[in-house]
Amino acid sequence: MTPPPPRGAQKRAALTIERLRDLYAAATELTHENPFQLLIATILSAQTTDRSVNLVTPELFRRYPTAHDLAAADPAEVEKLIKPTGFFRLKTMRILAASRALVDLFGGEVPTTMEDMVKIPGIGRKTANVILGAGFDSPGFAVDTHVIRLTNRLGLVATRDPVKIEYQVGAMVPKEEWTALSLRLILHGRRICDARRPRCEECVLNDFCPSSLVRPRRRLRKGRPIGEAPNSDIRLGNT
Ligand code: SF4
Repeated sequence: MTPPPPRGAQKRAALTIERLRDLYAAATELTHENPFQLLIATILSAQTTDRSVNLVTPELFRRYPTAHDLAAADPAEVEKLIKPTGFFRLKTMRILAASRALVDLFGGEVPTTMEDMVKIPGIGRKTANVILGAGFDSPGFAVDTHVIRLTNRLGLVATRDPVKIEYQVGAMVPKEEWTALSLRLILHGRRICDARRPRCEECVLNDFCPSSLVRPRRRLRKGRPIGEAPNSDIRLGNT
């Protein structure tokens, strides 16, 4: 059974939206010019940094600008181009298979619904939500490892199941905030709320985050930080 969201979760979610909005653009760091490029870049980003993906994609997309081009590509050529991203043989298989599916199922276009998106091999709900949100401006709450860690540390949820997190957070924040919140949580996880060493002293959420390692540096308007740690099972550490 899924535990319900911790007490005060909705208020903490609203404060998180408000504070992170001032800090980060609601954007993916993967360079792309259209949904097809974003889809391929997202597949390539597994187990590596966005920076290393951004180093290889300009040439990849120059050589193979459409799903039709990439579907017909010589795998050995693609492997050479994407080698710096690691796991290059597997990733080549994946981006070629995804491109073929785009051609066979959708005429070479990236579909615009979750239902169709997950028919593409290698595309799960997380990637689909990134593409829906950042590629089509259609609300999507993508749950990656950073979002799992932050939503638990912030006491928004008490589960590590990505689909349950997607639905629970989706129910507590307005739909138009889904994409931006997810993208900003990812950036905050990368820059401040590190898995091993969260920099709570620099964190703008430290006055209400139940997992903060520092004392609140400011109080909320009504006089007290929200709640105690809502889930004693959630502790800082690797996620
Ligand atoms: S206060 Fe610490 S644990 Fe909480 S979100 Fe910020 S960095 Fe993460």
